[in-house]
Amino acid sequence: MPNAKFLEEYQLYRKFDFPIKRDTKLLPISLNEFPKVNLNMYCPNCNNIRTFKFNYKYIHKKEKNLFIKNIDNHFQIKFDFSKTQRPSFPVLEENDIVNLNYICASCEDYYRFFAIKMGKGLKTIEKVGQFPAWDISIEKNLKKILKGYSEYYKKGKTCESQSYGIGAFAYYRRIIEDIIGELLELIPDLMNGEELEKYRVALEEVRKTNNTTNKIALVKDLLPPILKPEQFNPLKTIHDVLSTGIHGKTDEQCLEDAESIRTSLIFLVDAILSRKKGQQEYTESMKKILEKRRKKINKNEN
Ligand SMILES: [Zn+2]
Repeated sequence: MPNAKFLEEYQLYRKFDFPIKRDTKLLPISLNEFPKVNLNMYCPNCNNIRTFKFNYKYIHKKEKNLFIKNIDNHFQIKFDFSKTQRPSFPVLEENDIVNLNYICASCEDYYRFFAIKMGKGLKTIEKVGQFPAWDISIEKNLKKILKGYSEYYKKGKTCESQSYGIGAFAYYRRIIEDIIGELLELIPDLMNGEELEKYRVALEEVRKTNNTTNKIALVKDLLPPILKPEQFNPLKTIHDVLSTGIHGKTDEQCLEDAESIRTSLIFLVDAILSRKKGQQEYTESMKKILEKRRKKINKNEN
């Protein structure tokens, strides 16, 4: 069902464009027109990201008290309190809530549920419920960098989970303001030669300013290729979002901006820390190899 990104990442009440196609306007839209799609999400049983396969779906029609369950494409009417004539297949209408059930394909013992509400004119959908709840935990690498600012991050994600875009944006902006200096100081570790010289000169200027967007502006075009995959520049993204600010924007617009800041920040921190770790591991293993070689030479000389 409908789109993996929507189910995996969208926050509650955030509208997703999902015009349901119908062959002819005369025919009612059935639940079958909801495409099925597998998800990649975390399974606590497997303690890893796993494929979740679509299990079953049913419509919850509040006003008509009609509950219909669909297992393996065979529709069964579970309850029909209305006792009026109903079509034998479920028809989708505005404000219907479609419940989706997913199961981990690996352990087959962990379930995920989504409640999806059909929007106006069946052109959009939104999540009105999700179990387990949208994840507000902090990514491992980010936790190392955030330290005392972790609370802001959690609050930002909590706001995001409820689609309070303005709140999420404000918390993430605060995090960037507080940690950007430290983050920019880590980048020279990933550079050398002329690239490093240029960056160092800019970093001197960065240290002299207190304004976050100015700090980022000074170095955003000097990032090493490792921090700019496929022309995506996380610092430029953060800079663009912060410089347009929050003024006059709706919750929905701020939500997109908040998401851009969060994903760019996660990428930057991951890239910097894993590269550093990689370098440390390389240096350690090189030291060991050289030590062995030195011992061997000493032995031969003796
Ligand atoms: Zn599992």
